[in-house]
Amino acid sequence: MAISNTELARAVYGKRDLRAAQDAMVAVEPDGDGFWTVYNSEGVARTVDPDAAVCDCEDMQYNDPPEGCAHVRRVEMIRGARRVPDVRLDVVLRKKLDEEAG
Ligand SMILES: [Zn+2]
Repeated sequence: MAISNTELARAVYGKRDLRAAQDAMVAVEPDGDGFWTVYNSEGVARTVDPDAAVCDCEDMQYNDPPEGCAHVRRVEMIRGARRVPDVRLDVVLRKKLDEEAG
């Protein structure tokens, strides 16, 4: 059986980097105080402190991944602190990165 592009990308980048790059999310820093709010496609809001790699989601609570959950990683990608996988990106992230690049 051939390996799919999705499986290949997951093996190369890891599932959380892929989720951070591809899942529909909107990340905002409403008060400019370092705390970000990351909304998923259902409108559920997570609070992220990227400097401390902290998020209030279940993945962090139960799995405590060493480099943080997908929400932390999304914010890091926006801030240029994490490599963005060379895959088709969530349109919101694509737009944000294009804005940052000028
Ligand atoms: Zn999270």
